Formats: sequence, structure tokens, C-alpha cells
Amino acid sequence: MIYLDNGATSLYKPPSVKKAMLWAMENCGNPGRGGYPTAMAAAETVYRCRETAAELFDCMPEQVVLTPGCTFGLNMAIRTLVAPGDRVVITGFEHNAVTRPLHILGAKVTVAGRKLFRWDEMLENWEKQLNHGADAAVFTHVSNVFGYILPVEEMADMCRKRGIPFIMDAAQSAGVLPVSLKKLGADFIAIPGHKGLLGPQGTGILLCGRLPKPLTAGGTGSESENQFMPDFLPDIGEAGTPNVPGIAGLGAAMDFICGEGTKRIFRVEHEAMACCAEGLRKMGVRVFAGEHQAATVSFLPAGDCEETARALAERGIALRAGLHCAPLAHESAGTLKTGTVRVSFGRDASFAQVERFLEELQGVF
Ligand code: PMP
Repeated sequence: MIYLDNGATSLYKPPSVKKAMLWAMENCGNPGRGGYPTAMAAAETVYRCRETAAELFDCMPEQVVLTPGCTFGLNMAIRTLVAPGDRVVITGFEHNAVTRPLHILGAKVTVAGRKLFRWDEMLENWEKQLNHGADAAVFTHVSNVFGYILPVEEMADMCRKRGIPFIMDAAQSAGVLPVSLKKLGADFIAIPGHKGLLGPQGTGILLCGRLPKPLTAGGTGSESENQFMPDFLPDIGEAGTPNVPGIAGLGAAMDFICGEGTKRIFRVEHEAMACCAEGLRKMGVRVFAGEHQAATVSFLPAGDCEETARALAERGIALRAGLHCAPLAHESAGTLKTGTVRVSFGRDASFAQVERFLEELQGVF
């Protein structure tokens, strides 16, 4: 099988990830809940993961809140910054993990920037909407549907200059592009462990530039007599027994990423994506490709998207068709009715993968 659904989750995991998870299952007790060796081993494992994340994302270890995923982190961040009726500016490429919490909270959402691969349009509209006043802003680093890399440093700068708190969704960029909490000056950056970071599912990170409002309350192993959550990081965001095997795997995965370097990973993935986009173009299908693109490319086949994906699956190609949990991005690109077929490369991307995919697609048409 050729796996081209890395936007959903990465299938390739470094062997060290599985080894670390197994080790944790055999050797780790409950972290922060005892001074005996297995509890200490768990506490050290969790702390090491925090330290590696701090190194990779340029922050202090205590600013790393370990979560069950990017969605959890986004919900916590949004609940912290947004109250019902607040005006929130977002981009036209946000995932449901951003738009649904905002909708459910009753925020007044304004969408700024809808043109694919057009930084000038994005920045002009972003600035215009921020100038109308906003209580908060949320933007994705990379569109999960189109691989569009947004001009996040400039967008962050515009927010900071106006004192507007903001959240970045790094679901599609962490492990592939540089992400720095310090440089961006974000209030929060939400990250999944299981995509570009190559860690296990059920893991994630919320980088905190400020104290979050906890989504859950419970034991932390600290201040047990206090009936509120501890008011310090990271404990405030981490109630209950953590996913120690998952965290051990995530730590090993981030060690691997630090060793490889995000630049190298990005180059390999980007080359495969560009080659794939070119091949698709030559086949005469409508391809969504342009400047500022990462490892994901969407296209519109001659026939139905879902049927094309099913036919490809029968031929050993794993990818995803439809709306990819991001109807707003499809609305922006004009593909809300049809959806698209999405090809997303991972750390194991190769020209051989691209060739085989194009060959099988030709067979489907
Ligand atoms: N934001 C974006 C842009 C995503 O692509 C995803 C995952 N598809 C998420 C948020 C949610 O991540 P998770 O499923 O790991 O919680």
C-alpha cells in the first residue's frame, strides 16, 4: 500500500517510538504520585518529553501542556480567550476543530483571507479585519486541505501590535516547519502528536504563552488540598493520569525529529508534492497548487471524488476525499459541493510513491 494520507495521521513512526512506548508500559507507574522507582521513571519520562518539546518549539518546559490531541488543545485555548458574543477573526482555511468550538461558544466569527496561495490578499484582509477590532484571533499555519502555508509571522505581528490575543493551529506544520512560541509571541499554539511529529495517536501539545483555563479538573499530584486547579503551568492544564506510554512515544518521536531536522523533512515532502502536482496537471485534472505550499495537494478528478478515492484504495493507494473536516476551506476554494481528493506526503515521501500513485490514477480514469 502507498500511504498518502499523512494529513490525517502519519503511518510511518520511527522504531524508537514503539520501543519507548513498550518500555513505558513495562516500567512506568503514575507520574508525580509517588517517590518509588516506577513513579519516578514515569515522572522523568513525562519531563523529558516536555524538555524535548521546549527545545523543538522554543519555549520553557513548563509552557508545554501535554494533551490528548490538537483538538483538545484548541478547545482549551479557545475557551480561555473567547467568551460568548466575542468578535473573533479567523482565516478562510480553518478546521472544524477551530470553527465548531467558536460556533458552540456563540462567538461572532469574521473570516479574513480566502484566496489560496495569495499572501498579499491574506495580509490585506487580516489587517483590515483586525482594525475593525477583535477580542481574539485564530489562524492555521498550514491548510489541511490544500497545504497552503499562511504568512503566520506577519499575521502574528499584526495581532501583537494591536494587543489582540491569538492562537495558532500548528496541526499540519509541527515537525515540518519551524514553530517557535517565543518568536511568534502567541498566546497558544496547538499541536497534535500523531501527524508531522510522528508520535502516537492520542497525544498532543498545547504551547502556552499564558495561563489557560482548564477544560477538565481533577488530580494533578500537586496542591491536593486546593479544590481549584493549581494556578500554574503545566499542572493547570493536565488533570488526571496522563497517557504515559503515549507521552514516552511522543518524546522519542520528537527526539527523532530534532535529529533529522525539520528543514530536511520539509524538503523531501515538498519535492514529492511538487512532482505530484506537476504530474496531475499533465493529466489534465484541476490541481490546487501554488506558491507557499507544504506537503499536501488537492485535486478535482473527472469523476466523483469519493468514488475516485475508493477506486484508488482498491489499487493500493490510501488517501482521503471529501471535505476533510474543513468545510470553510472548501467554501473558500469553491469546492464545498464536490470536495476534493487530497494527497498528503509524509516523512517517507519518494518519487516512487508519486509515480505509482499517478500510474494508478491513470488506471482509474
Ligand atoms: N487542525 C487541523 C488543521 C487539522 O488538520 C487537524 C487534524 N485533521 C486538527 C486541527 C485536529 O487534530 P487532532 O485530530 O489531532 O485533534
